[in-house]
Amino acid sequence: MTDAPDLETILGRVAGASGPLVVLTGAGISAESGIPTFRGPEGYWRVGSRNYRPMELATQAAFRAVPDDVWGWYLYRRAVCRAARPNAAHLALVELDRSLSDVFLVTQNVDGLHLRAGHSPERTFQIHGNIDFMRCAAECCRDVIPIPAAIGDSWEKGRLPGERERGLLRCARCGAATRPHVLWFDECYDEERYRYESALAAAREADLLLVAGTSGATTLPVRAGELAARSGAAIVDVNPEPNPFRDLALSVPRGAAASGRSAEILPEIVDRLLAVR
Ligand SMILES: [Zn+2]
Repeated sequence: MTDAPDLETILGRVAGASGPLVVLTGAGISAESGIPTFRGPEGYWRVGSRNYRPMELATQAAFRAVPDDVWGWYLYRRAVCRAARPNAAHLALVELDRSLSDVFLVTQNVDGLHLRAGHSPERTFQIHGNIDFMRCAAECCRDVIPIPAAIGDSWEKGRLPGERERGLLRCARCGAATRPHVLWFDECYDEERYRYESALAAAREADLLLVAGTSGATTLPVRAGELAARSGAAIVDVNPEPNPFRDLALSVPRGAAASGRSAEILPEIVDRLLAVR
């Protein structure tokens, strides 16, 4: 449950901020749409007699060794994401995006729910990629293209791409295999594919950093939080669980944190923001 005094403090911080706004979202906001993090048992995948953990499969090394399994795993995860619907938090952020011109969204989520909800692509920095897209694994070009509709939206766990699907998952330019357009654990952030510099620049210039449903487990969000704190931004954290952003928010002069669900609290925050701007 949301603690009312927390919420009032948050709404006060939000109303007091006047400059650019950065919203940072993580797995918690997707979980409220029913999408698991895939870091736990729901993300395990058996190859032969061996169970791969998600952090082993989401790598270039695994893609080189067992590409069909990596694709099968991603198509299964994509099917889970496709079956999910944006929730009240996604929709509130879309309203914010449409109403204000200085809002940037930085998301760790690869499910594409922010875009499916209607968020503008040019102001959405999907720093870990989007599971609905693929790109040439041989890097013949920079094209990022949607997974072909002929693949379908459903995919049962354990299924591997057959000849037909492998044909669909080929680069249209050079014929090489494609790969999912997601950042893997043995890869680095970059601007061209994942808008790394843009996300950090937005955080540096923000007057308000609103963090929702992230655990702060990856480096770019943590860095974004540090930059916003250093420049004196208001920092607001919404998360049912304790996390490093709550600690950060409570350590800065214009910070506040609420323990609760994004789908309950973000609509209230957006209402307040739109009332004062
Ligand atoms: Zn190619």
